[in-house]
Amino acid sequence: YVKLISIRFEYVKEFEQPDILLPNTWIVVRIDGRGFHKLSDHYEFIKPNDRRALDLMNAAAVEVMKELPDLCIAYGVSDEFSFVFHPTCQLFERRNAKLVTTIVSTFTAHYIYLWSTYFPARPLQPPYLPSFDGRAVIYPSTRILRDYMSWRQVDCHINNLYNTTFWTMVLQGGMSNTDAEQELKGTVSADKNEILFKRFGINYNNEEEIYKKGSVLYRQYELEEPKPSTGDEENAPEGKQSRSQQDKLKKLRRKAQIVVDHIDIIRDDFWERRPWILS
Ligand code: ATP
Ligand code: ATP
Ligand code: MG
Ligand code: MG
Ligand code: MG
Ligand code: MG
Ligand code: MG
Repeated sequence: YVKLISIRFEYVKEFEQPDILLPNTWIVVRIDGRGFHKLSDHYEFIKPNDRRALDLMNAAAVEVMKELPDLCIAYGVSDEFSFVFHPTCQLFERRNAKLVTTIVSTFTAHYIYLWSTYFPARPLQPPYLPSFDGRAVIYPSTRILRDYMSWRQVDCHINNLYNTTFWTMVLQGGMSNTDAEQELKGTVSADKNEILFKRFGINYNNEEEIYKKGSVLYRQYELEEPKPSTGDEENAPEGKQSRSQQDKLKKLRRKAQIVVDHIDIIRDDFWERRPWILS
């Protein structure tokens, strides 16, 4: 009888839409904090850059990387993180919703779990609870994936230069928010650098790397290439790998230390010295 009932209702399963992401493409899942402008006000994040908040984002992302060995690299800035799956990834049969929701909820769980370590004096309080949205985007080539990563890092730079200048004008220059905003309207990078240097004696280049470059997370399971790439054939990325090679790599990946770095990922150098990240 129960079996019959179940058959009677099973057709509703057909309403579920397939959402398998195109094979052989890079998958980037980008998450972003919901309403973090307000949340950061409530918990009194230091402006423009609260180091504790960034360290907390990075710590949660490290845990996500640990739980999902299929991830090859992640990049974070402000309240966002991009997680990158390799084109060969078969996790959840590449189902969009499964991948995005797993990343978002795993990240959120760790973010909340770790909160008190980074903000011991500011316990989380409803309705100000951190939550994140997420989306998956596929990129058909390594070149385009790298352009995506570059785009996020350029965005980090542009926003940070603006925010650093704005908050210096407000906090050190005693300007009102609207006056600072008004003066910065239409300025280019050189103008902002000059305001910082001439008016406040701040050399933007000396700001901390984590603020200027964001954070890149990757697995450190092979030795980095020496500075000038040797072009050593043995270390060149392999085209195809056998099953046992793949298994070995998977094991290495699981055990590998995850590094949090604040470094240029736009130029080739970063990638050339760590050929295993995208291979
Ligand atoms: P949405 O829900 O649309 O994403 P949002 O308020 O989160 O809205 P974002 O564009 O994502 O807006 O910007 C995040 C905001 O969170 C920043 O503008 C900044 O005010 C704040 N923020 C995030 N991280 C930090 C940090 N480490 N230090 C200080 N402020 C931060
Ligand atoms: P997947 O990651 O594919 O979802 P899963 O192990 O979570 O795998 P589900 O099909 O989602 O498998 O089933 C959830 C399982 O969790 C149930 O089969 C049951 O064993 C257990 N479970 C969930 N809620 C309860 C509960 N309230 N009491 C006892 N067991 C539960
Ligand atoms: Mg958003
Ligand atoms: Mg946000
Ligand atoms: Mg954001
Ligand atoms: Mg389940
Ligand atoms: Mg279930």
